[in-house]
Amino acid sequence: MTTATEALQSARASKGANGMSYIEQALQSVVQRNPNEPEFLQAVKEVLESIAPAIERHRKYQDQRILERITEPERMLMFRVPWTDDQGNIRVNRGFRVEFNSAIGPYKGGLRFHPSVNLSILKFLGFEQVFKNSLTTLSMGGGKGGSDFDPKGKSDAEVMRFCQSFMTELQRHIGAATDVPAGDIGVGGREIGFLFGQYKRLRNEFTGVLTGKALNWGGSLIRPEATGYGAVYFAEEMLATRGDSMKGKICTVSGSGNVAQYTVEKINQLGGKAVSLSDSNGTIYDPNGIDAEKLAFVMELKNIRRGRISEYAKQFKGVEYRENANPWNIPCQCAFPSATQNEVSGADARTLIKNGCILVSEGANMPSDPQAIDVYLENKILYGPGKAANAGGVACSGLEMAQNSQFMYWTREEVDAKLHNIMRTIHANAFNTAKEYGCEGNYVVGANIAGFVKVADAMIDQGLV
Ligand code: NDP
Repeated sequence: MTTATEALQSARASKGANGMSYIEQALQSVVQRNPNEPEFLQAVKEVLESIAPAIERHRKYQDQRILERITEPERMLMFRVPWTDDQGNIRVNRGFRVEFNSAIGPYKGGLRFHPSVNLSILKFLGFEQVFKNSLTTLSMGGGKGGSDFDPKGKSDAEVMRFCQSFMTELQRHIGAATDVPAGDIGVGGREIGFLFGQYKRLRNEFTGVLTGKALNWGGSLIRPEATGYGAVYFAEEMLATRGDSMKGKICTVSGSGNVAQYTVEKINQLGGKAVSLSDSNGTIYDPNGIDAEKLAFVMELKNIRRGRISEYAKQFKGVEYRENANPWNIPCQCAFPSATQNEVSGADARTLIKNGCILVSEGANMPSDPQAIDVYLENKILYGPGKAANAGGVACSGLEMAQNSQFMYWTREEVDAKLHNIMRTIHANAFNTAKEYGCEGNYVVGANIAGFVKVADAMIDQGLV
């Protein structure tokens, strides 16, 4: 049995005519073709390097040039989104949809509305989504989209006009059997409602073209909870491999949006104690724990009043607000990064471990930078990478699609049981795959190889398309 590092070294050692291994060649070509896309290159590098043991073991992936093919999106759409604000001024944003890979099902992945959105970020998210969706056991390809529109500070009417303009173009490219978007940062129930309404008006059809819908018009119970719940279920599975559980664990959580809120709820339900939340202005540290009553306050603050997390510290006693800080220097045993990409640096990871952290389960996508991941792996803590740990959201979206296609609604208990079972299966698949390739306990290798093999084999079966 070889370790991932040995396999990568061995893959590097089997050089081609130009003195480079197949993985090095493929990476170099991705770097050359996408020079100004740091987030996309970061995601590709992480995946390609960690799947070296599979590339080494199965020659067909090199013969079929799978790495070159899988790193190139099938289709990328960019479009103008004009709208008028409440003062009657004309505004213009940019809309995107990256349809990355449809080898195992229709494109599936969220829409992000945030001023930082650009092609690099959406290509990294779409690329990650391909492997994540493959891990869910459901039939979903990978895609991602969004806009550099900032919903913060906009009225409901402005958000509606923006969403209607965005969907007026997007509707040409999506469909229940083609591409099914969902929410992500800045896109929650309100935005999905406006987007769905415009799709229905333009296409004159009521289909499951979006997920994250409200319950009274095609949504699924547990979809809002699914990503956060899933990240905690995944943590519980990782802890079980060491005979441990969430009970009594002090947990830090970053972000205070959809994923963070339901991460806190599930931590509480499983007997842990969540002590932090954050937003882009700062972090609250509540050593007494964010209990159900305090969480209800956060949900009202964030989802209805759309206020800042600093208000939590004014509302409850014994709470510290740390302006412009993240939660990673708060002592904890389990950390749940649930805000955004690259929010945990190598230095943060070292601080976490120094303070007693034994587990990181990623609710956000790529929240740990490459140095942080190295620190987790060197210290052999339990590390659940986002594409496995946060796959519960898209898995539940898949369950929403299944219900829509049958015109059925499943109960809360049914959906939660299916979600829990999917998270257990993802964990077992990642754990067993890592072991099979000689890297026991390395969920990065396990998740990436398990996700990759299913998609790559489907691509080979379907010929050169
Ligand atoms: P929300 O928009 O509901 O919440 C995002 C939270 O993260 C907010 O508290 C926001 O603060 C904070 N945040 C966003 N950008 C930054 C930044 N640059 N710096 C600091 N804080 C930031 O989004 P979600 O909860 O849906 O998504 C959070 C993460 O989870 C993302 O990485 C997303 O891709 C991932 N994810 C989401 C899924 C889902 O089902 N929703 C599924 C799988 C992954 P502020 O309000 O100040 O911007």
